[in-house]
Amino acid sequence: MKVDVSAKQISMPRQCACCSGSPSMELQASASKKRGKTQFTNSWAFPYCSQCAAHVGRYNAAFAVLGGGIAVGALGMLFYSSWCALIGIVGVGGWLFLMNSAHAMRGAACACTGAAVSYMGWHGTLHSFHFVSHSYATQFMHANRNKLVNLTQAQHQLLGGSSAGMATPSRRIRRT
Ligand SMILES: [Zn+2]
Ligand SMILES: [Zn+2]
Repeated sequence: MKVDVSAKQISMPRQCACCSGSPSMELQASASKKRGKTQFTNSWAFPYCSQCAAHVGRYNAAFAVLGGGIAVGALGMLFYSSWCALIGIVGVGGWLFLMNSAHAMRGAACACTGAAVSYMGWHGTLHSFHFVSHSYATQFMHANRNKLVNLTQAQHQLLGGSSAGMATPSRRIRRT
């Protein structure tokens, strides 16, 4: 579910963004944009339980192995020997293995295997998020109900009241 918030501070519901269990750590949801030669990155810390943080980490590792294997294999084939295609195949095998184990680490209440929150970007103080967990999205909307914009009819119907801690985004500016 996509949720737009217009605010400098956003309230984070204290529950795991994936399984709604009690959180024990935070994972960053980041977005970047380029203006001229400067790249701006904003990120928000969302709460996760340790089990969910582990399956999200495994899921991300699977894609890193896949991308790395294919890139190294393709470069090797181009400049060295067609046997380097094997590196790509090993990458795909590693991806399958890690994806399977990430799936196996999921609990019954988990919303997904990868990150449960994506930060889709910002425009001034307008921040857009995508939540996989319906339960977390509802809590998030309750906690930030006065700051929500572009609400759909269905989202209007979900709203009520809740308590949460405040958060601000961490900013990183890199000039290239
Ligand atoms: Zn969880
Ligand atoms: Zn989970």
